Amino acid sequence: MAKEDLECSFCGRKKPETNLLVAGLDAHICDRCIEQAHGIVVEESKDVETNELDGDLMLKKPQEIKTFLDEYVIGQEYTKKVMAVAVYNHYKRLLQPKDDDDIEIQKSNIVMVGQTGTGKTLIAKTVAKMLNVPLAIVDATVLTEAGYVGEDVESILTRLLQAADYNLEKAQRGIVFIDEIDKIARKSDNPSITRDVSGEGVQQALLKLLEGTIVNVPPKGGRKHPDQKFIEVNTEHILFIAGGAFDGIERHITKRLNMQAMGFSASKNEDAVDLDNMLKYIIPKDLKDFGLIPEIIGRLPVLTHMNPLDKGTLRAILTEPKNAIVKQYKKLFIMDNIEFSITDDALDYLVEKAIEYKLGARGLRSLCEAILTDAMFEMPSSSEKELIVTKEYAEGKLNKSTLKKLKAVS
Ligand code: ADP
Repeated sequence: MAKEDLECSFCGRKKPETNLLVAGLDAHICDRCIEQAHGIVVEESKDVETNELDGDLMLKKPQEIKTFLDEYVIGQEYTKKVMAVAVYNHYKRLLQPKDDDDIEIQKSNIVMVGQTGTGKTLIAKTVAKMLNVPLAIVDATVLTEAGYVGEDVESILTRLLQAADYNLEKAQRGIVFIDEIDKIARKSDNPSITRDVSGEGVQQALLKLLEGTIVNVPPKGGRKHPDQKFIEVNTEHILFIAGGAFDGIERHITKRLNMQAMGFSASKNEDAVDLDNMLKYIIPKDLKDFGLIPEIIGRLPVLTHMNPLDKGTLRAILTEPKNAIVKQYKKLFIMDNIEFSITDDALDYLVEKAIEYKLGARGLRSLCEAILTDAMFEMPSSSEKELIVTKEYAEGKLNKSTLKKLKAVS
């Protein structure tokens, strides 16, 4: 057969009509068909990846999500339940088939309100761990409007890309935890007095990200400059979880509740208000009164609160979670063949000190470090193979440590 009579076995184009004709055993394929076939392969492999992810995700029903959270997070029952539902719905939305009933499930971004050290970051981390999706933890305080000193909001997505090892597919299904969202609240009720670089401007910049948009992200972070290559990140399927202490928001809640009490007959308000935990009555309006703009609140439709940690919870945090602090120390000591144990009254003592120093759960770790540093320094080189921490031992070590000075300050 003459060369020019050869044709593509797929599309039938003659050799002169192609740029390239590749010969097989007894067939030929042209450059166009190769390209098309390549496109199909890429699409198919995407589907396989998605289905694997989908399968994984669909297995976890809200109750299973909550059970997983229970293993790591003590207490906070309400938030764990709300989170389980929100996360489940978020990933259902992500997997929704494209049908033509015009019903589009909206994003269920979440905002958690609660004092520092009550487990907000821990919950976000645990959810990401369970779903095996990348997590970026960012601090809202460093964000500024584009063009000002500080980080542009796009830097959030740079972090997420980094957490996903620059796998765009993975990043686009990841979770972003924005800590200290309360710090970008509008400071004054009148937004026009001065330009509010770190407050309302940032909220505005965040809006698009939260809702779902395509953002040009500098992959290595830093300022945008003309020669930089960008990665286009679609935030449509990224779950945003915001957290903040919202110090003083109780005032707004109390005020609102009082107004309600005046508005309705007293008998309707028979349920006694829990004055120690006003946060549990929080509603979106309180966030607005605090200084978040309504658009941001609208894009964080799931609102939940964290309870303050009481003695019982702090005590449980020490020993119960899957990677409880005490379990971690046990593991560290066992690597040196040292049997580590801590008595009940020593644990109670730690809890008391954490409360006294107003350190919350975060303080438990510092207290343990202060108490155990000597032992961790000396024992690996000694022949002693057992360490029992009693209340007296803990007291002795703590009295010598610098942590004790905290008390004088507070
Ligand atoms: P937040 O984000 O609310 O400031 P974190 O989640 O960072 O608080 O909590 C700080 C540390 O305290 C966590 O690493 C965890 O060890 C511990 N912790 C706080 N709350 C809980 C909880 N409810 N259950 C288990 N551990 C907790």
